[in-house]
Amino acid sequence: MKKLMAANWKMYKTGAEAVATLNELAELLKGTAPEGREIVIFAPFTALERASGAMEAIKGGMIGAEDVYPAAEGAFTGEISPAMIKACGASWVLTGHSERRHVIGESEDFVGEKTAFALANGLRVMLCIGETLEERESGLLRNVLERQLKLGLKNVPAETPVEALAIAYEPVWAIGTGKTATTDDIVETHAICRELMREILGEKADKTPLLYGGSVKPANAGSILALDNVDGVLVGGASLKADSFTQIINA
Ligand code: PEP
Repeated sequence: MKKLMAANWKMYKTGAEAVATLNELAELLKGTAPEGREIVIFAPFTALERASGAMEAIKGGMIGAEDVYPAAEGAFTGEISPAMIKACGASWVLTGHSERRHVIGESEDFVGEKTAFALANGLRVMLCIGETLEERESGLLRNVLERQLKLGLKNVPAETPVEALAIAYEPVWAIGTGKTATTDDIVETHAICRELMREILGEKADKTPLLYGGSVKPANAGSILALDNVDGVLVGGASLKADSFTQIINA
């Protein structure tokens, strides 16, 4: 399986800034993702169309949205549908990012509705899961991951192609904090995630990329990518500059 090198740009970059960063990335990568790697950049809605155009200069590069609403159209002020995302040239969407769960207040059921609807409507989905520090310290790690995976993947259409889904494990306490989980934590938690994925997804589980996210940077990306059951990384802060994201992509 190719390693998936994913960037979450959060609420950073206008369309013009996104294009400038992608042009720089294309130049640094000489127009192609390295052998055995694919790149996906989750960009703000307002930058999706221009970012998709600029990404054409990078072979193996794709664009995704950071959120989606589970309806085709309707009176949902401020929301965006799978068809709107695809019309911008984007092929992926993030669901269940910890900032949407814990800052915006999305429920686990709603994350599941978004995931199923986006998959049924032809988007590839990266479902994010992860525990808070309090949950980890209370011994609830496995319960939280199991609940988030079960509810996040409820109603996923059986005919979903295997390449349409990815899971990103991101401990909430490691996102944007500079604290990375230890390699032992990552190996142990990814083994739990893979086991739960096998229970839920059956034989598709081993072909479904499982990414790590949480303060990944050029200095730690190589050692994280070498761990068992790590099929890629989801990078926030260190993906905003083309040179640091390039170092991660090449790690
Ligand atoms: C993220 O936004 O998914 C993330 C992992 O952020 P950071 O790399 O900044 O911790």
